[in-house]
Amino acid sequence: MPRAFITGITGQDGRHLAEFLYDKGYEVFGMVTGQNNPKAEYLRNELPFVEIVPGDLADLPSLVKAMAHAQPDEVYNLGAISFVAMSFNQAELTANITGLGVLRMLEAIRMVGGNENNPIRFYQASSSEMFGKVRETPQTELTPFHPRSPYGCAKVFGHDITVNYRESYGMFACSGILFNHEGPRRGLEFVTRKVTNAVARISLGLQEEIVLGNLDSKRDWGYAGDYVKAMWLMMQQPEPDDFVISTGNTHSIEDLVQRAFAEVGIDDWKSRVRQDPRFFRPAEVDLLIGDASKARTKLGWTPEVDFAQLVSMMVKHDLAYESRKAGIVPAV
Ligand code: GDP
Repeated sequence: MPRAFITGITGQDGRHLAEFLYDKGYEVFGMVTGQNNPKAEYLRNELPFVEIVPGDLADLPSLVKAMAHAQPDEVYNLGAISFVAMSFNQAELTANITGLGVLRMLEAIRMVGGNENNPIRFYQASSSEMFGKVRETPQTELTPFHPRSPYGCAKVFGHDITVNYRESYGMFACSGILFNHEGPRRGLEFVTRKVTNAVARISLGLQEEIVLGNLDSKRDWGYAGDYVKAMWLMMQQPEPDDFVISTGNTHSIEDLVQRAFAEVGIDDWKSRVRQDPRFFRPAEVDLLIGDASKARTKLGWTPEVDFAQLVSMMVKHDLAYESRKAGIVPAV
């Protein structure tokens, strides 16, 4: 039975990946940080097959112990301070966890090692936010980075140190440069889920309006369930490499809002949306659109869920979720 170790197991991607690997016959270990972390309880209920291992990306000895205990074949480093807006307020914490955390994971893997025939393979969750103020469109594995937030800067460090350890020590270390990927498990702080949840609540009469920031920025949004498959495919290659994972289509926040409202039959969405400077960022990533040709050719990976299906899936989920919470029978 292959063994996989996942940091960030309680997040959107960690949960999707754990399910994916379990279905493939893996023994799955998930690192959970903190004392009496309420997310651990949630994880035990949702994914009882995961063996929870304590550890913290800020604490190298804890990572070494976690590696020694799990003895993994594959390590997926998905743990991070992952919310761009928060990274502006907690920049040092973001640099420590999202950036230096990668270095600590690589060091822990080097110390524990795996065996010669089967060295530990490492996946780093790199991000399209590294492209930031984009130098070319669409963005590929060769596009230079120009991050626009402490989160983006930390991810650039994580990406570069992964490449450096691969080149310096011959480690099987690969990076997936994943563009935004969403789904019903996305946290409510991210714009997609914030919008689909608010639209569901407005449609159910539980909320009047939605308050947002910049409606003009554009993102290449895919479905998280499709993207975790790409992570696994990268780890099965004969040689470690870096891959852009994206849909190749981009949409503005306004498109997202419009489509989500259309899903519940509300055309006059403008009267339901208010903009507030609170949700604008000190520096913005205006336009992301990825070129995943390399992943298509080398990994045989293609996304299955498109933007319209994604928004529809999320709105439907939030209608059911909010109805259940409010104790009402959904109208659609
Ligand atoms: P990101 O691409 O990782 O920063 O993902 P987000 O979902 O947090 O943000 C995507 C885009 O939506 C950014 O350009 C934000 O500025 C924009 N946006 C506009 N209003 C909001 C809002 O209320 N919340 C969030 N999270 N983003 C917003």
